[in-house]
Amino acid sequence: MAALNLARLIAAAADTIAANAEELTALDQAIGDGDHGLNMKRGFEAVRAEAEAFSAKPLPDALKAIGTKLVMTVGGASGPLFGTLFLAFGKEISAKPDRANLTAAFGKAIEAVAARGKSQIGQKTMLDVLQPVHDALLQGKTALEIADIADAAADATLPMKALRGRASFLGDRSIGHMDAGARSTALLVRTVAHSLGESA
Ligand code: ADP
Ligand code: MG
Repeated sequence: MAALNLARLIAAAADTIAANAEELTALDQAIGDGDHGLNMKRGFEAVRAEAEAFSAKPLPDALKAIGTKLVMTVGGASGPLFGTLFLAFGKEISAKPDRANLTAAFGKAIEAVAARGKSQIGQKTMLDVLQPVHDALLQGKTALEIADIADAAADATLPMKALRGRASFLGDRSIGHMDAGARSTALLVRTVAHSLGESA
């Protein structure tokens, strides 16, 4: 697998979140409380501030440190969930992962998110992007195919009824809007895919 420039990837992820924060806020305004853009921006700027220290660590420790930072800074429901994703990913991944290890570790990380959120696929959450991305990894899709799959999966949350998180309070009125956490997940997947594709 391509070597990973983690410092560059962190900067790219923080840039992506900053550039799309208003869209994430607007999505969360429609069926939540409108803080998702700000939550994610705060968290990723905090990670960016320590990018150098994080990227000096072995990959598992770096991912765990990022997860801890996200738990502390993102807030909302999504902070602990994204934090759990990175923490569990760091616990399972090896220092120099091949695709099989990366895929297995990502699968375990998704299971940890589902356990933490008491959620599953089809409930209009970030899991509705994470799971198709894992499936695509298993199927051997390329990085750019995976980025497109993530975008399509975020779009596919639009007709779903929210069954977890604040949007679930709206019941049927959550139908017809994209889930904010699904969108931020797709944005991050595209950023990672792009960086891996570039350094391939
Ligand atoms: P809050 O809902 O507390 O305001 P955010 O707006 O930052 O937090 O994040 C909302 C996003 O978190 C949702 O769009 C959804 O993707 C995700 N989310 C919320 N609850 C859950 C859950 N139980 N399981 C998985 N994802 C969830
Ligand atoms: Mg919110």
